[in-house]
Amino acid sequence: MQPRIPVAILAATGTVGQRFVQLLADHPWFEITALVGSERSAGKPYAEATQWRLDGELPPAFADMIVSPLTTDLPARIVFSALPHSVALELEPQYAQAGYAVSSNARAFRQTEHVPLLIPEVNADHLTMLPRQRQARGWPGLIVTSPNCTTTGVAMPLKPLDDAFGVEQVFVVSMQAISGAGYPGVASLDITDNIYPYISGEEEKMQPETRLLLGSMDSDRRIPHTLTASAHCNRVPVIDGHTSCISVGFKQRVSIEEATQVLQDFTSAPGVSQLPSALPNPIIVRPEPDRPQPRLDRDAKNGMAVSVGRLRTCNLLDLSMVSVVHNTLRGAASGAILNAELLVQQGYVE
Ligand code: NAP
Repeated sequence: MQPRIPVAILAATGTVGQRFVQLLADHPWFEITALVGSERSAGKPYAEATQWRLDGELPPAFADMIVSPLTTDLPARIVFSALPHSVALELEPQYAQAGYAVSSNARAFRQTEHVPLLIPEVNADHLTMLPRQRQARGWPGLIVTSPNCTTTGVAMPLKPLDDAFGVEQVFVVSMQAISGAGYPGVASLDITDNIYPYISGEEEKMQPETRLLLGSMDSDRRIPHTLTASAHCNRVPVIDGHTSCISVGFKQRVSIEEATQVLQDFTSAPGVSQLPSALPNPIIVRPEPDRPQPRLDRDAKNGMAVSVGRLRTCNLLDLSMVSVVHNTLRGAASGAILNAELLVQQGYVE
């Protein structure tokens, strides 16, 4: 058996960081060798530094691990970043410069030239821009990024529909879980008995990120998709799981039966489906009239599947549907782990 690859988690104490710890505790390829925190946490045992908020116990092997400061001298080859935006902006390039492969959940470099914005089932070929990234920036390491959690639940079903029918317009109304705001997140008096119709910066990410994800590669250059997207993003009193009501306009006429078939038939490319965290069929099409729902569907296939349903004709565009994605799993930590698995498989982690 190959020795596991040593990995570090940056911002290991937060909402996404705890997911990384939970998911990587028994990962077949990766071994957690460093848990990294802010000045507040560094030097403390992990169990003391973090307020564990996930179902189940903090994995006992990490309770006593001393949280490291944000140094670039970590005993790891991959770093998973759940850093806040401003910290990621400054530090992720330093980790790439120091030779680490950075798999980031932060938005700092999602729209940066030569940095893949990646969902392996959607655009694994975008990793071919990495040699350009290293050459342009002189990094022995690299950065890949995961999309915004809401965009993930939209781009996944759009991918097979775009391949089959050509997506032109997308209109989205999201109902996003509280955990998407981190901990402690939204004040209870703002979210209880309420819908909060504003998430700073969220609507602005939907169009550019979706265009990049569905874009094509011309040699090592990324050509963004030309679709137009508009989003209304709302925070709702759900703990985990982002729901999106999506309407799509296509280049050609599409029947509901054809669209349903295309979504059901969507499979990961053979290389991707062999990765430890991948599913052969990452989209689940729910036939019931009242599914998907966040409480019932967010954990589908260990939180890695995107569930869609309520496919019907749209009077404004062509097709309407509902999607549910687990925001801290597929939309954050699990997605970033799958990205790192792809990096290893493709030989980008020396
Ligand atoms: P969170 O629960 O608020 O946790 C914040 C984390 O950032 C903590 O681990 C904290 O460490 C660390 N931190 C804060 N200030 C720091 C500093 N100055 N230097 C180093 N570390 C610092 O946030 P989260 O929800 O996990 O989000 C983390 C990142 O993931 C953000 O960039 C977010 O946009 C992205 N993201 C989140 C979700 C989601 O659903 N929550 C989904 C996709 C992407 P200490 O505890 O040690 O202070």
